[in-house]
Amino acid sequence: MCPGGRGRWDVDVVGVTIVIAGGGLSGLSLAAHLTRQPPAEPVLLVDDGSRPVTGAGWAWWSERPGLLDGAACRSFDHVRVHAGGRERVLGLGRYRYRYARGADLAAAVGRLTRAVPDFAARRGHVEAITSDAGRARVLVDGTPIAATWVFDSVLGPGERPREDARLVFRGWHVRTERPAFDPEVPTLFDFRTAQDGAASFVYVLPFGERHALVEHTAFAPPGTTADVPAQRAALAEYLTGVLRAGAYHVVGEEGAALPLSAAPVRRRHGAVLTIGTEAGLVKASTGYAYERIQQDSAAIARSLAVHGHPFALPRPRPRHRLFDGALLDVVTRHAGQLEKAFAALFDRTSAEPVLRFLDERTSVAEEAALFASMPAPAYVAAVARRMRA
Ligand SMILES: Cc1cc2nc3c(=O)[nH]c(=O)nc-3n(C[C@H](O)[C@H](O)[C@H](O)COP(=O)(O)OP(=O)(O)OC[C@H]3O[C@@H](n4cnc5c(N)ncnc54)[C@H](O)[C@@H]3O)c2cc1C
Repeated sequence: MCPGGRGRWDVDVVGVTIVIAGGGLSGLSLAAHLTRQPPAEPVLLVDDGSRPVTGAGWAWWSERPGLLDGAACRSFDHVRVHAGGRERVLGLGRYRYRYARGADLAAAVGRLTRAVPDFAARRGHVEAITSDAGRARVLVDGTPIAATWVFDSVLGPGERPREDARLVFRGWHVRTERPAFDPEVPTLFDFRTAQDGAASFVYVLPFGERHALVEHTAFAPPGTTADVPAQRAALAEYLTGVLRAGAYHVVGEEGAALPLSAAPVRRRHGAVLTIGTEAGLVKASTGYAYERIQQDSAAIARSLAVHGHPFALPRPRPRHRLFDGALLDVVTRHAGQLEKAFAALFDRTSAEPVLRFLDERTSVAEEAALFASMPAPAYVAAVARRMRA
């Protein structure tokens, strides 16, 4: 099943069903997880093709096997960081860092959904989603579809959470004429790029020694838009001045200005549950969402199977939102603080404790140990400000 593929219901659907609005990362992931414990109702995924997954790709870290791990074309057990004038290669412990292309992820989901009855996909534009008296309706290209449950990754709950920062990034898929990349070790962040505008670093995901995704990333104040010429100049400078990559060709480009928010989103509206980015699943302090979406999809499928509804989901711990918000407050006010914080956090042989913290799996004691090395006063003040707000 792929967005745009023809399913059994390419004609109008009027029966009661489960509708997944949007067949991007969260819609596809949820469809995949629902196949593990198929619900009683048929499942219909609707996507209008406005953001084709075939042009996308996602990197993530995780410490346990995932349903869609087989879609990954790259898997790493070390990462490189360059911060505070020092380069480190860190082991990942129980974690692996992976990357999947959108086309491979969609194909993997298709294999799972084709193996069970009553899963279908159709091309269609979701115009409205309503919920009344416990039943939902989805308007697709003018045709209403009655639904027991709707999982919405396209329209969202209406009210937007407060934006705390923006992750403004631009990545080049680069091919070099001579070997320029370490094919075994991605660079999570390299601060050897100008810090005068916003807290910025470069990320390198190698596909081989002559092919990589090289991405300039900035944590910028809310509302910031991309300065595309400056981003391209920074990428060129990194390739030439820092990596000394020699001649290179840019074979693809991606970019976005992702709003980041540490505020919770009200996800449930009657029989509608918001999923994906619209549900606040992009981690505010990292911009990553892949693994959170996988965990959320698994929890939704479990809730449907156990409780007959999709709403028995784990609640995120408020203190992690507080940490995320404080980090964003600090680094958007004082650009240089991001490098200092990351240099301190990753000053160790294994990245595992930091990844566990970013996954919100650490205890208070483990967090205290991690923060002990951080430049504390700015963060303490930001936490205090947020607690007062
Ligand atoms: C360029 C970019 C790179 C990213 N890289 C990573 C990464 O490497 N790792 C990571 O963890 N996170 C990453 N993220 C963050 C996040 O994981 C992605 O944005 C992810 O795609 C979010 O999933 P989603 O399902 O919410 O949205 P999407 O994947 O964008 O899916 C939305 C889908 O809905 C469809 N659609 C939109 N409107 C309608 C409508 N009205 N009717 C029907 N269909 C509609 C679109 O065609 C699309 O397929 C990245 C984000 C961006 C923007």
